[in-house]
Amino acid sequence: MYCGRFAPSPTGPLHFGSLVAAVASWLDARAHGGRWLVRIEDVDEPRCRAEWADAILRTLERLGLHWDGAVVRQSGRKELYHAALERLRQAGLAYPCGCTRREAAGRYPGTCRAGLPPGRAPRAWRFRVPAGRIGFQDRWQGWFEQDVEAEAGDFILLRADGFFAYQLAVVVDDAAQGVTHVVRGADLLDSTPRQLLLQRALGYPRPAYLHHPVATDGEGRKLSKQNRAPALDPARDRENLLAALAFLGLAPPDDLCGAELLAWARGQWVPRLHSLGV
Ligand code: GLU
Repeated sequence: MYCGRFAPSPTGPLHFGSLVAAVASWLDARAHGGRWLVRIEDVDEPRCRAEWADAILRTLERLGLHWDGAVVRQSGRKELYHAALERLRQAGLAYPCGCTRREAAGRYPGTCRAGLPPGRAPRAWRFRVPAGRIGFQDRWQGWFEQDVEAEAGDFILLRADGFFAYQLAVVVDDAAQGVTHVVRGADLLDSTPRQLLLQRALGYPRPAYLHHPVATDGEGRKLSKQNRAPALDPARDRENLLAALAFLGLAPPDDLCGAELLAWARGQWVPRLHSLGV
């Protein structure tokens, strides 16, 4: 049974880039007769706000993107992340790191891998990345692989400020919620190999992945809250939905709106993927 999800981080209101991810994941789930969950990824609590989470949910409702079950919030799930970290630690796959952020900027060189250097206190916990390449067949992008050890090094699981890292939380939640299909923007493509390694280490099943192209601004930068992408104008719901569908390659007939528009798009989604040869 297909189970998909939309997992926004409430670091701002919904913008066009995240609307595309919401629409793509909704369409893929509904076209497959599957469930579609919404998970608020507020694990990075200092950057998130409850008002933004509420605003995102209201926008989804207004657009007719209705979800199944209760909305899950990562800020309330720390015990699950803790238990996963503990399992990794017991398996020798997580270790404490005493480096400061500045010392560990970029690819982590493995300074604390063999034990904390003398005089260092543990600050964060890292995953012991195995050597070699790991890859997967993306439903839109095709084959993608990475040498995580060479490109990222041992990455953070629990941050020095006490918050869990996105990479761990997302893997634990996708497994705990029974997510079978992940549909999200291609800006997350190079996070996926790290997530595959964590799934493997924790014995979780691997979902199928589809990374759609991401919307960019006039200068080719990804639309994001960091780049101050504008919030969606509530007075332009139909236009925004049409623009998201057009971005995904769907051109609905003029006379459709609201639920009819989404029902039409749901019927076109699988043919659209086939037309891309994916
Ligand atoms: N929370 C992430 C974001 O808003 C998305 C995570 C995911 O879909 O795996 O960028």
